[in-house]
Amino acid sequence: MRGRGTGHGDGRRGARGAALAAGAATLAALLAGCASGHPGAGDSGASARPGSSTATPARPPAPPLPAETSTPDPGLPPPVVSMDIAHAVAGGGRAVALTIDDGPDPTWTPKVLAVLRHNGVKATFCMIGPQAAAHPGLVKAVVADGHRLCDHSVHHDESMDHEGRAYQRAEILTAAGQITHASGGVAPQYYRAPGGAFTPYSRQTAAAHGLRPLGWNVDAKDWERPGTAAILATVKEELGNGPTVLFHDGGGDRHQTVQALEQLLPWLRAHGYRFGFPVR
Ligand SMILES: [Zn+2]
Repeated sequence: MRGRGTGHGDGRRGARGAALAAGAATLAALLAGCASGHPGAGDSGASARPGSSTATPARPPAPPLPAETSTPDPGLPPPVVSMDIAHAVAGGGRAVALTIDDGPDPTWTPKVLAVLRHNGVKATFCMIGPQAAAHPGLVKAVVADGHRLCDHSVHHDESMDHEGRAYQRAEILTAAGQITHASGGVAPQYYRAPGGAFTPYSRQTAAAHGLRPLGWNVDAKDWERPGTAAILATVKEELGNGPTVLFHDGGGDRHQTVQALEQLLPWLRAHGYRFGFPVR
């Protein structure tokens, strides 16, 4: 389950496909699909990032894989931010870029916000467009606390890298509009493809609208609900992969996530980490 794929990708896609084929795929069902797999972040087909369980937190982030960079297609609108998938934290150094996905959620987002506020930590919230539209107060609360917004698509379709361009474009731009409207005019600054299902087209489309494609280095795997101690152990073990850490405030019961953050944030400060936003 480390890095991208390792065997569960097909099952993940299969489950999602079944949900879609059922024709009654509720958002909850789609989110369940999300929770079944959050592999690394490269374009479809990219190999796993070279993670290592023996890495030390001081190791610098790995350079981008070839599949994560590309030359803009001159036939498409030009990027206004880099279309490469961001993994680094702005300002560099010993820092963590905390990213919180799949919300906003009326139960869990306020609890996550409270933990962040208590610890003086700013994070990036990757929101699903319809949920932002359903809970504009939560989007505004995230912005009011100084966090950044990230577009996490409309339907959280982890196979959208196999869909046509019009579909990919609508997933990105419709959600961006929903999030911006819900926030009262604050636009998302990043685009994180569900399950890392980026394509060069989706990355350029996002970047042409000011959304930096956003990956991750550390998957807390809190969506598996393995227990708070296991979440903490995973993050501490994988911090050597790079600074961008993935948690979730939506998609299910996230009380383990809240408990893990309550312990992790003071631990990171005590170990000399600062908190920053991903590069743009
Ligand atoms: Zn997600």
